[in-house]
Amino acid sequence: MLTQIKGLHHVTSMAASAQENSDFFTKTLGLRRVKKTVNFDDPEVYHLYYGDQIGTPGSVMTYFPFPHIAKGRPGAGEVGETSFAIPEGTLDYWQERLASRGVAGLSEHELWGEKRLRFKGPDGDAFSLVEVKNDPRRGWAVTEVDEDKAVKGFHGATLRLTDPGATRELLSFMGYEEVDRKGESSRFAISGGNDGADVVELEIAPSADRARLGAGSVHHIAFAVEDRAAQLEVRKALIDTGYQVTPVIDRDYFWAIYFRAPGGVLFEIATNEPGFDRDEDTRHLGEALKLPTRYEPYRDQISRRLVPIRD
Ligand code: ZN
Repeated sequence: MLTQIKGLHHVTSMAASAQENSDFFTKTLGLRRVKKTVNFDDPEVYHLYYGDQIGTPGSVMTYFPFPHIAKGRPGAGEVGETSFAIPEGTLDYWQERLASRGVAGLSEHELWGEKRLRFKGPDGDAFSLVEVKNDPRRGWAVTEVDEDKAVKGFHGATLRLTDPGATRELLSFMGYEEVDRKGESSRFAISGGNDGADVVELEIAPSADRARLGAGSVHHIAFAVEDRAAQLEVRKALIDTGYQVTPVIDRDYFWAIYFRAPGGVLFEIATNEPGFDRDEDTRHLGEALKLPTRYEPYRDQISRRLVPIRD
């Protein structure tokens, strides 16, 4: 069993509109946009990152907004719901806040002994806010959402699968422990994670069709390791277990490796180093367009093709 994984690092999804996406995460959910860069494989598309003050791993929701992308079709083999932690006693506040801003799909649930508010993102993305006791993380305090109510970061994510068997094994290998089970659904948690962001749930939908990737779908889910040395250990262990893992890729703010989990979900292992403040003053994170070095010579061209985002 691996001991290097520290819970979630980030979740990356697809959106249709960069402006709508930025407004939703910064103004409605009150996260901080910590980076405005481009998709490193397709620099005509933004890559937007939202999180806490500095984009602490475990708090970072990221998006590729493709202007003409079709909506995704929910199904099996994808992340079904991404959940954020909120302080205990703030669910009513969030219910009112999201309702007053016209957020779709609001419904309250009691699940795994926790209070959960489900809602939809601008492209139908499935999210929830979960009241978590004694979460030590500090949320991003903005004018509209006080720090004592702010989203603290991820709580976890739900993988929707037709068959949980191999994924259960993989999560256990990664250091997760099954802490609860209801029928075929189960909840895994990891201790010693990024101070939270430590839950993965499995939702079993045996007859579901395969999900179709599009706006509102999660592209991949990234798990955290402290540094590059730990990442290499994890990479070797996964390869020894039979997984096909990519080489280490420099994403400027972390190093990444990717592999396909047995149920079809794309997993990434990302390093906590060097972080989102490596190339910007923390007071101005996410304001300027940052480009990887290889695209710097084409900054003018790239900027002209991106629709500016109004803050
Ligand atoms: Zn990623």
